[in-house]
Amino acid sequence: MVEKVLPAQAMTGDEILEVIAAVKGQVAFHQWLGIRGYSEEKLYEARMRTDKILQKIRDELGDCKRCRLSETRTHLVFGQGNPEADLVFIGEAPGQEEDAAGVPFVGAAGRILTDIIVKGMKLSRKDVYISNVVKCRPPGNRDPLPEEISICEPFLRKQLQAIRPRVIVALGKFAAQTLLKSETPISRLRGNFYEYDGIPLMPTFHPGYLLRNPGGKKLVWEDIKKVIQLMEKE
Ligand code: SF4
Repeated sequence: MVEKVLPAQAMTGDEILEVIAAVKGQVAFHQWLGIRGYSEEKLYEARMRTDKILQKIRDELGDCKRCRLSETRTHLVFGQGNPEADLVFIGEAPGQEEDAAGVPFVGAAGRILTDIIVKGMKLSRKDVYISNVVKCRPPGNRDPLPEEISICEPFLRKQLQAIRPRVIVALGKFAAQTLLKSETPISRLRGNFYEYDGIPLMPTFHPGYLLRNPGGKKLVWEDIKKVIQLMEKE
């Protein structure tokens, strides 16, 4: 029962994740039953609790020096958005503007992602959660190295376990291949739903790719429409 849940500080990380899953399951069940006032209260509680867990994961990263990207970063870019988001976007790594601001997807590619969210999906950035596979900018915007991804990815996994969104959109090759543990090119992965830890995952092109290849926007929009349809259906 939710009433027996202990304060987040008194629990281990795994116990907290279990509680979050339980609270979310209960809230979804009560929503399904149509108990709206009760579920809104529980939704608020769940949001506060998930927020605390995300903060705990961020605290665990601290001034992270686990890989060499720490040597050249300005800011570690953890993630931004609604801790109870139904929809999470995962990109590859912070770029120059994200590194300077400490916020994901705020540069030119970020403006494309914002257009997808706001103009395409009729949502706001505050409705969704946005993060990256690696939290620090690779120098010169080079690709993240496999060892950098393998060191940083467990923190993304914890973020996704805490948020438990209804849908994940993996933006570009690195996000899609990392989350799906696949080597299939993004051009073949995109457009179909896969499963990540029981959550539907849609791979699509990275907004940065669309800056160089505007013709890809049509395909991305097709992928996003499938995400909208799935969320409406559920
Ligand atoms: S990329 Fe990840 S593992 Fe590497 S220093 Fe940054 S936060 Fe730490």
